Amino acid sequence: MGKISENIAQVRAQIGAACASHGRSSGEVMLLAVSKMMPAAAVREAILCGQRAFGENYIQEAVDKITQIRAWEAAGETPSGSQWHCIGPIQSNKTRLVAEYFDWAQTVDRLKTAQRLHDQRPAHLPPLQVCIQVNIDGAVSKSGVAPADVLALARAIQNLPRLQLRGLMTIPDPEKTIKNIAIQDQHTATLRLFQSLVKAGVALDTLSMGMSADLTQAVGAGSTMVRVGTAIFGARPAASGATSFPDALSS
Ligand SMILES: *Cc1c(COP(=O)(O)O)cnc(C)c1O
Repeated sequence: MGKISENIAQVRAQIGAACASHGRSSGEVMLLAVSKMMPAAAVREAILCGQRAFGENYIQEAVDKITQIRAWEAAGETPSGSQWHCIGPIQSNKTRLVAEYFDWAQTVDRLKTAQRLHDQRPAHLPPLQVCIQVNIDGAVSKSGVAPADVLALARAIQNLPRLQLRGLMTIPDPEKTIKNIAIQDQHTATLRLFQSLVKAGVALDTLSMGMSADLTQAVGAGSTMVRVGTAIFGARPAASGATSFPDALSS
């Protein structure tokens, strides 16, 4: 077992340290391993280290990978129980694949998308677990719901029985993460929004916030799920054109 297992151990230790220094138990923060653009073999290595939850951005790539992993699971070649989270933009023509293959959709930002996911969720599967993506810093180029519109969307999703609303997801502005400007403000604003929804009677247990660069601060600000790619799997291969990161975040 090579680099990936070392990296996972290191990220878990980092989460543990961040929790400890903020008086939180490490069981409160789930690690989502972001495996986009990484081969199924890398995911398998992470599974062998006990990791089960994986995040993917590009739907077709994810479907191929999930199919491969599930086949390995069925054949007993890989421990079972992998869980798949869609963390990329969900175009209307991709909702069926998301509803059929994923366990979670974290990037729901329109009722139309929620309705389609609900209608297309296969009857033999449990409800799709959903987070509303919030555009917390108001960046014009970004996907996500404006904070003022989140409560209405949350209530609408609660009326869709094939979906289970779990919480909020936010992607901090990468520029600001790098320069470390106001990232704390983005985290705090997201936590306040989360708390205001709970106060309004919306049952939520998930705040998906924090990536490799801002993990520690996000845990300090109340995150319950951090999404880590590079720090686990290493640098992603350079993508071409429309699928490159972070361009895909703004589509
Ligand atoms: C790619 C991605 C991540 C992981 O980013 P890293 O910097 O590689 O840790 C987390 N969240 C989302 C939404 C992503 O697209």
